[in-house]
Amino acid sequence: MSLRESIRMIDLLKELKGAKTVAISGHVRPDGDCIGSVMGMYLYLQKAMPALTVIPMIEEPPAEFHMIAKIGDICTDFQPPVDVFDVFIGLDSSTTDRYGDALPYYESAKKKIVVDHHITNDGFGDVSFIDGSASSTCELVYDLLDRKYLDEDIALALYIGIIHDTGVLKYSNVTPKTLRTTAELIAFGFDFSAIIDESFYEKTRVQNEMLGRALCESILFMDGKCIASKIDRKTIEFYGAGPNDFDGIVNQLRYTKGVEVAIFMHETEPMEYKVSLRSAGRIDVAEIAKFYGGGGHMRAAGFTMRGTFHDILNNISDSIVIQEKRNGKDGL
Ligand code: 5GP
Ligand code: MN
Repeated sequence: MSLRESIRMIDLLKELKGAKTVAISGHVRPDGDCIGSVMGMYLYLQKAMPALTVIPMIEEPPAEFHMIAKIGDICTDFQPPVDVFDVFIGLDSSTTDRYGDALPYYESAKKKIVVDHHITNDGFGDVSFIDGSASSTCELVYDLLDRKYLDEDIALALYIGIIHDTGVLKYSNVTPKTLRTTAELIAFGFDFSAIIDESFYEKTRVQNEMLGRALCESILFMDGKCIASKIDRKTIEFYGAGPNDFDGIVNQLRYTKGVEVAIFMHETEPMEYKVSLRSAGRIDVAEIAKFYGGGGHMRAAGFTMRGTFHDILNNISDSIVIQEKRNGKDGL
């Protein structure tokens, strides 16, 4: 039996039967897959179960996702008009702490439904639909929808999540099924080319400045197999950058010829860094991220850690060496 067949599909509308209030949330610093899956699910439930009170609840989405219908409906202050929800649907988050300010609503909800594609997710909901072989949470959400309620707005939201989590359909998490799902979504007729440019490739001036600094100041080590860079608080403040201005930097570092593992950190608090890891395939960075309290996928993972850039880098280097030794290699 394939991994996919071994995963129990949930009957979403049946699971929501009798519920009057539903919260839909995702992870802190929401990315395209998180925003797309929350909004796709929100638009769908509004249509499929019109009597339901549905509240999408995540941090303010970056401006580049403006093309998603009803994006302004998101409850970004985490003060919804409901105290205790009948159902909490948690998307694209491998652990409960990733829900951030939505966590109290997860904890108090009468029923918890978890849909996710992170292999580090152990299925912690009352009802869980987890498939680590899926490209994105949006691909899984699509599987849960009754096709008769699908429309262009829902399709566009889910499409955005798929293209963002697959690097515009190029990462190794793309399967024939991902492409079939994408084909069905673009059949709704939205301008997918413009959406890719606006939401994925276009960068603001400050985002490009952060990318430029990170590339120029990067260091290579382990015979050029690892690359690391950071942006500290002083630089962030000087340029007036925000938390969403670092997306894509770690991927660009990884494209350096010969590199197996890329590490990018930005300082979130004095001596605290958000760390992003990318692997070309030989190193399982999800394992490393999980060890330090984070999570993710084999080739893309992250965590937050206290210390200096060099302290954190030393820890990560040790973890890479340990993994290589265990795999029977002396080093990368
Ligand atoms: P990024 O490096 O783009 O922030 O994240 C890459 C992947 O790792 C994403 O799938 C993201 O969900 C996961 N990830 C990043 N940071 C964390 C974290 O602090 N905790 C967990 N559990 N996952 C993370
Ligand atoms: Mn995702």
